[in-house]
Amino acid sequence: MKRNVDLAEISDGKLYTENDMAKLGCNDCEGCSACCRGMGESIILDPLDIYRLTTGLGKSVEELLQGAIELHVVDGVILPNIAMQSDREACAFLNEAGRCSIHPYRPGICRLFPLGRYYADGDYKYILQVNECVKGNRTKVKVDKWIDTPKVKENHAYHVKWHYFLNHMEEILSSIEDENMVKQLNMVVLQMFYLSPYDGEMDFYEQFYARMSRMEAFLQEAGV
Ligand code: SF4
Ligand code: SF4
Repeated sequence: MKRNVDLAEISDGKLYTENDMAKLGCNDCEGCSACCRGMGESIILDPLDIYRLTTGLGKSVEELLQGAIELHVVDGVILPNIAMQSDREACAFLNEAGRCSIHPYRPGICRLFPLGRYYADGDYKYILQVNECVKGNRTKVKVDKWIDTPKVKENHAYHVKWHYFLNHMEEILSSIEDENMVKQLNMVVLQMFYLSPYDGEMDFYEQFYARMSRMEAFLQEAGV
């Protein structure tokens, strides 16, 4: 999700890389689940999240769509997000003890929080959002340890590719007047990156780039 905000208002003003230390440590979120509640549609899922959730939990996207995740339009593109359960306005994966029941498979946004990504000039750096985590006295942690994601360089390159692909799709979709075509193109993206099952035995990035090549070929052939 793109936001046009003043960095000075939402962050400590610094840009971080995976090798930097940032004030992130919150004592394992002990006694707190504030950022797993009332998040609306903001925990948007990317293809790696769907790979983790489907292969880790042994559930299809269709099964997850029965309450745990939902679809909505983000900057013109239909994408899945974690659903907040209406009765308690909490993430469907937050257990009664206030802990994440899918910690090893949790989405990238949950791994990042309260970091965010700041994209510029075909790349990104991390920002430390200062108005998000409710805990004070945070300790310094290295960013790559915090995001708890293997293959750091590949993961970084993947996020760049996905971000600029979504920007490109947004441009394409906003230039098309025919609503049916907009719907169809959105369905192609959903099918290509989310609904077609991933193989948990295979490397995610390999599968992602194969799908991206097919998507780019499709767009070229369609002349959009
Ligand atoms: S997936 Fe886990 S960490 Fe993320 S919002 Fe839900 S309960 Fe919280
Ligand atoms: S608000 Fe901070 S301490 Fe509370 S659950 Fe989120 S990251 Fe953890």
